[in-house]
Amino acid sequence: MRAALLADGRKLAPACWTVAAGRTQSLTGTAGSEPALDAVLLPALVNAHAHLDLAGAAPIPASGSFTAWLLGVGEARSDTRDVEREAATEAAALGRRGVTAVGDIDASGGRATRGRRGAAVGGRSFLEIVGVGADAARARLATALQLAERLGEAADGLGLSPHAPYSVHADVLPEIARAARRRGLPLAMHLAETPEETRYLQHGDGPFLDLLRAIGRGRPFDAPPRLRPVAYADRAGLLQAGCLVVHGNDLDDEDVARLAARGASVAYCHGTHRHFDRPRHRLAELLAAGVNVALGTDSGLSNAGVDLLAEAARLCADRPDVRPLDVLRCATLGGRVALGWPAGAATLQPGTPADALLLGPAPADAERSTPEALAAWAFSPAARVLATLHAGRVVAGDAAPPGFLDTAEGHG
Ligand SMILES: [Zn+2]
Repeated sequence: MRAALLADGRKLAPACWTVAAGRTQSLTGTAGSEPALDAVLLPALVNAHAHLDLAGAAPIPASGSFTAWLLGVGEARSDTRDVEREAATEAAALGRRGVTAVGDIDASGGRATRGRRGAAVGGRSFLEIVGVGADAARARLATALQLAERLGEAADGLGLSPHAPYSVHADVLPEIARAARRRGLPLAMHLAETPEETRYLQHGDGPFLDLLRAIGRGRPFDAPPRLRPVAYADRAGLLQAGCLVVHGNDLDDEDVARLAARGASVAYCHGTHRHFDRPRHRLAELLAAGVNVALGTDSGLSNAGVDLLAEAARLCADRPDVRPLDVLRCATLGGRVALGWPAGAATLQPGTPADALLLGPAPADAERSTPEALAAWAFSPAARVLATLHAGRVVAGDAAPPGFLDTAEGHG
């Protein structure tokens, strides 16, 4: 192909990629030779935060408060969709747009996980635990652990997700952290999503108190812990257990430093951030502090469609303070690290899973352009998805030319 651009910012032009038995065999520059494909090769994208069990549900406008929106999510869950089929359809759609792995929150008793696996999209399914009262939270933890065994921990990536600080009882959070550590199950938690969440943890009042009163299932603590969300999760042992912090919208300097010190990852969902019209995310500060940042789409209930590539493009357009190469890194390597996998596939190292994204037609100056300019092109409307490759298997993209599947297999 005309060029390859890797998560570490290296560019090869032209490049030849060879694949054997689903793994990268080699990636080499081929100066002087005629490239076989008018395309640019990127490592495949990782969608670090999605809710495939909500696929196919209608979006909920953000006109009301966040807690009103949350009540709407509850209603969406109680409808009669075929969750496994809808999840498979959404996972396959992500696959056609460059994603080969999804960090998915499964609150559907494993149906979404089965749908994703059926669509042959990789990932890690975090089995969700909700329980405002301690007994309810313990029962849900036990159910999640049983489900993990049934789904087969070794066969595919699984994890646990205590939903959020306001929806899981404080006493059970350390128990979840210990269970996760014992079984080698990584964690993901919606954390520091809104200032209202911070207020509830610090003072025990505000919209979350009203919401919990309205639901009538008790409170997640007797007295407010008087901690900000990141410190609260840290005290419960969640960050040390390798917890992926989902959103991290309401962070102060101390929170950023704590996340860096714990080696935690943050999944940022730009489309959802826009949906709720939230203040500027501290993405650049997190990156500068050395925190691993991944990108996610969240669900279609808070986003205009679930398309990580489009989201990355929107992020580049909206945030000129974040370099396109950083966005590439977050969308590839950042996602792999966040989901607890080795980073090598994001630089197409020999022996790692052959997961890649082919964009084309390549820009006229692909050979001469800087890596930064090529990344900016990759996240622009000019770049079309020719194909996604997952473990060497070719999935045709939106703009695959006729006969592409016959010629692209194996190498280009
Ligand atoms: Zn979410």
